[in-house]
Amino acid sequence: MSTHSKIQIYNSLSGEKEVFKPIIDGKVGMYVCGPTLYSEPHMGNMRTFINFDLIYRYLMYVGYQVKYVRNITDAGHITNSAGEAVDSIGKAARLEQVQSLEIVYKYNVKFQDLQRIYNMLPPAIEPTATGHIQEQIEVIEKIIENGFAYVVNGSVYFDVRAYGEKFEYGILSGRKVDELAEETRELNAQDEKRFFADFALWKKANPDDMQIWRSPWGDGNPGWHIECTAMSTKYLGDKFDIHGGGLDLKFPHHEDEIAQSCGSVGISPANYWMHANMLNVNGQKMSKSLGNYFLPMEIVEGTTEVFDKPYSPQVIRFCMMQAHYRSTLDFTPDSLNAAEKGFTRLSEAYEKLGSLETKAESSQDVQALVDSFYKAMNDDFNAPMLVAGLFEAVKYINTISEGKATITAGDLELLTKEFTGFVFDVLGLTIEKASTDSALTTVMDLVLDMRKDARENKDWSTSDKIRDRLAEAGIVVKDGKDGVTWTVK
Ligand code: AMP
Ligand code: ZN
Repeated sequence: MSTHSKIQIYNSLSGEKEVFKPIIDGKVGMYVCGPTLYSEPHMGNMRTFINFDLIYRYLMYVGYQVKYVRNITDAGHITNSAGEAVDSIGKAARLEQVQSLEIVYKYNVKFQDLQRIYNMLPPAIEPTATGHIQEQIEVIEKIIENGFAYVVNGSVYFDVRAYGEKFEYGILSGRKVDELAEETRELNAQDEKRFFADFALWKKANPDDMQIWRSPWGDGNPGWHIECTAMSTKYLGDKFDIHGGGLDLKFPHHEDEIAQSCGSVGISPANYWMHANMLNVNGQKMSKSLGNYFLPMEIVEGTTEVFDKPYSPQVIRFCMMQAHYRSTLDFTPDSLNAAEKGFTRLSEAYEKLGSLETKAESSQDVQALVDSFYKAMNDDFNAPMLVAGLFEAVKYINTISEGKATITAGDLELLTKEFTGFVFDVLGLTIEKASTDSALTTVMDLVLDMRKDARENKDWSTSDKIRDRLAEAGIVVKDGKDGVTWTVK
């Protein structure tokens, strides 16, 4: 274990930064709520997963052995803000006239592609809700046995009032049941729940349900929250270290996960609850339902309406790293253009590292510089602070290469190791590509120049041929108002 492992984590459960102490020394169990694959994940979803990828990477960088579990939601009734059950996968399946799992599989292939493109490390396991129906039924049975759930007409509901006699409902979100009463609608006559805050663990099948399973309570399907309780405990145990997800999942999803764990095994599942903040568009949360979203490939291909040029996945990832995971981030042309410039400076400094001359003395305290990288990340994974430290290093590297500063061989070795470690392994950027990219850029400049000449000479067949042949090679050329841009698909 590295000496640099005094990590502080902001724990949503206590509302404070706490020193991270794993249950088993040197090992970390981490569960993160994954995507509901009824459509292609949007850039906002990707931000949450990229933030947890950063956390996963840093924990491993300082020497932890991490078991990272992130589920795929492919079943279950999610409740909307009005408390109504919505089977979004079933809805998409009906619309496309295919089976539910065809929808999930189609978007999972896409999601796996996106993970690779955005350089996210695959979790240790990505279990699915449909693969764990039996486990979910078993957790529900335990909750009923313990007296915290009741069966009504083929459905099972969590009994929040019975639970409240032994445990505290609202421990994570701080919402008190009484306060909830004011913001939630009254129970109506058809409602099967005994109390407005009770939530479904199992829902009796509807005639138009696209997926149905057998259970001791009749045919039906699981409620939304139970899958995470079943899968996190199956793969990480009743108690594990970190549970994460987007901030919008804190209530009710994570609150109900805690209630289900306490209600089934008597203990709260995770020691540290981490919530990643939202990607916004003009100050508003990017979401499918608001329609203000763009897809991760649209921004790479330059086909969104928000940006008039494409950005590489590294630049997009780098832009994300310049906001702390607990802060909101607004993607704007300005923030992405600044990230692009910054990324180029970082790449150029990296390329200089290999050819710096060493001297008998260093004109800067390299150990302190390197320590600042760790200090930033140890402070609740503060990536923007890390980026600031890396730019300090960039400045130093540039002045050394101009002959205005000096570095010893030992310090250069240390700086090279940690600079590249933090850039590649922790931030997950892929600068090696930058050098091949720069060769490609030279060739593309030449080719596009030739195309421009052809167009000026009204030689349309040559200009079209260049464009088509590039497209065949996966390079998309776009004529915009500020000139020609290109992107590799
Ligand atoms: P879903 O597929 O809707 O279950 O969402 C998957 C993950 O993306 C969850 O952890 C959400 O909290 C997260 N998420 C949804 N919208 C955003 C957003 N605009 N910014 C960041 N994360 C988001
Ligand atoms: Zn979950």
